Amino acid sequence: MNIDQQILINWRRYLHMHPEVSGEEKDTADYIAGILRSFGYTVKERIAGYGVMAVLPGDSKKKCAAVRADIDALPILEESECPYQSLSPGKMHACGHDAHVAMALGAAKLMSENPPAGTVKFIFQPCEEKPPGGAKFMIEAGVLKNPDVDGIFGTHVVPDLLPGQIGIHDGATMSLDDTFSIAITGKGGHGAQPHKAVDNIVVASQVIIALQNIRSRRIDTFDPLVITIGSMHGGSRHNIIPDRVDMNGTIRCFSDEIDMNVRQCIEETVRGICSAYGASYELKFHDGYPPLINDPKLDMTVADAATKAGAEVVIMNRPRMTAEDFAFYGKSVPAAFFFTGAGSERCRYPLHNSRFDLEESAMPYGSLTLYHAAFALASQDK
Ligand SMILES: [Zn+2]
Ligand SMILES: [Zn+2]
Repeated sequence: MNIDQQILINWRRYLHMHPEVSGEEKDTADYIAGILRSFGYTVKERIAGYGVMAVLPGDSKKKCAAVRADIDALPILEESECPYQSLSPGKMHACGHDAHVAMALGAAKLMSENPPAGTVKFIFQPCEEKPPGGAKFMIEAGVLKNPDVDGIFGTHVVPDLLPGQIGIHDGATMSLDDTFSIAITGKGGHGAQPHKAVDNIVVASQVIIALQNIRSRRIDTFDPLVITIGSMHGGSRHNIIPDRVDMNGTIRCFSDEIDMNVRQCIEETVRGICSAYGASYELKFHDGYPPLINDPKLDMTVADAATKAGAEVVIMNRPRMTAEDFAFYGKSVPAAFFFTGAGSERCRYPLHNSRFDLEESAMPYGSLTLYHAAFALASQDK
């Protein structure tokens, strides 16, 4: 079994040159649907926005496998040197979703030519980059139902593995990503007379430092956790104590239980410090993507598939603190999300960097792994 690398490159470069950001993937969806139709698929379009799904129907006594690719680009001005640069200034496929689409289309092409006994669904999902994400709405629109999906596969290109390497991690593989906002308020005043005011800048500073102690003093050392304050705004000039300071942050960890515990610790910390200085506060948490949990049995299927694809299987011993809305599928059905190595000396920039590029020789490995994994699952009895 083989796949023509050039056809994958052509698809990927077209998408790379025509990036569309989250929620605006109209032409991308049309492009994908057209290619799927050319393989003979019946295609459903405009699912939860610009989602696309193609189904290869099979024997209902066999399992139903799904392959998911995300399709959106990012609002970044491309600075890579590649000859297939974005033609839309300020928009760029800097997370490799162009390659994800190409690899899933490659798997769909192979599947139409060499179908398994069971059903296979190809899900092209918009809005991965923009919370609350597209996955949740695709699931609500019923993509995992009728026929019910027994397992779903997805992949992400990564610059820290080489082309020909497929990375696998069992269990909790990518972090949840809640956000929170803290507003600290109190009577402002003259910078020369802080005792007559509540210095919200000092209170906020103490809160930021104390939040870091939650990681080191209140949560088990063996439970990965990151708390980051990514923005802080307050004040207008050097000698005025402001009435209010606003902060935003993110929580990264691997279970809802730890997340709830951390939220409580944050609340106690903010409350305690504010109370010591006579400040008031408003604290809000917002759910992000859930933790991405890989099913060990499906990971075995991926490992076998990667071997069939001629790839080297790399068992990854660390999870990632980044988040992915593929996690929502994993909350509904068994799921396996693997990493397709696409880095090199030339392609060494991280995801979301304006100079990000990927080694296209990686794509046949990812595409064939998706194909073999979905084929294997859709060949099993229910
Ligand atoms: Zn991304
Ligand atoms: Zn991504």
